[in-house]
Amino acid sequence: MNYFSSKKPYFIAGPCGAEDELQLQNIANSFKHIAIDMIRAGVWKPRSKPGHFEGRGEEALKWLSQLKNISSLPICIEVANKEQVELALKYGIDAIWIGARTTVNPFIVQEIADAVKGNQVGVLVKNPINPDIELWSGALERFSNAGIDNLAAIHRGFSSYDTMSIYRNKPNWAIPIELKRRYKDIPIFCDASHICGNRELIPMVSQRALDLDFDGLMIETHPNPDQALSDAKQQLTPDQLSQLLSHLIIRKPLSNSSADEIEQIRQILDSMDAEVVDLIGKRMELVAKLGKIKGDNNMPIYQADRWREIVKSRTNWGEKNGLDAEFMLNLFELIHDKSIKTQIHILNELAQDRPAEK
Ligand code: PEP
Ligand code: MN
Repeated sequence: MNYFSSKKPYFIAGPCGAEDELQLQNIANSFKHIAIDMIRAGVWKPRSKPGHFEGRGEEALKWLSQLKNISSLPICIEVANKEQVELALKYGIDAIWIGARTTVNPFIVQEIADAVKGNQVGVLVKNPINPDIELWSGALERFSNAGIDNLAAIHRGFSSYDTMSIYRNKPNWAIPIELKRRYKDIPIFCDASHICGNRELIPMVSQRALDLDFDGLMIETHPNPDQALSDAKQQLTPDQLSQLLSHLIIRKPLSNSSADEIEQIRQILDSMDAEVVDLIGKRMELVAKLGKIKGDNNMPIYQADRWREIVKSRTNWGEKNGLDAEFMLNLFELIHDKSIKTQIHILNELAQDRPAEK
């Protein structure tokens, strides 16, 4: 039985980086009073730029192995190559996590999977920094093929160039939801700390993850977050962590009566979606007709005035139906984009049929 599924929600907490022995002892002592299931601590820290705290390496592994005298909680660390796996195993580390910068590289993931083969160690695979579900699922499959039973995924959000985002790494919830659909036996945890990048957002993102039926959370916790050597803004104190956990609403599995009601509503949603898809299909047929007329008359496909008018009227209609402007814009950008592509296709076909001009 996968031990990451032994309790739901499963909570992993601990500092971004193992900084000194006292810090780790402090954390392990405070977790005696908080319902934490596993301690995390980075001993090698992947930093974007040189000259920052890169972890204490093997020395930190010695401190972590001593924590067993204080707390019986299992311990996880990040590894990024096979030498680090060998050291982790040598010091009796219970689980390793594959960081976002490592999941992107199938060579390294395979090297780590080969190094853990035949060991009892647990493996947690973070999503890659880019929103690519195949890389994430490919990495999980490499560990599953290596015979790792205690396997879980960690959603830590996706890097983006959008400087206006409130998140450090955008959650793109549809991706972890799709991963969960594909691998129903692999638990998925949410690393709210790395999604948020600042501690104020952590409760909201943690609750969202539980509402979406995530199996657990990973939360960076430090005795003195503001003095942390890495990720200071996003770490909680043990007290704040305890507050967070006590305020979380833990969703229960469906009861029978609510299951019936949910099933009914889902059936209605299914038939509404079928109508929506039907209408969009019909809309595209008309768009194709329009494309032909434009092509026959040598008119441009895209007309800015028409697009402006579409955005204005659709956002107005949306407002009347309780749908915000951002949503309406996203929706119609998608539809409009497909319409343009459909018309380009038709124009290209017409151009091919037309006899070459002399
Ligand atoms: C971390 O967990 O501290 C870390 C470096 O994570 P990520 O790989 O998600 O950036
Ligand atoms: Mn961190």
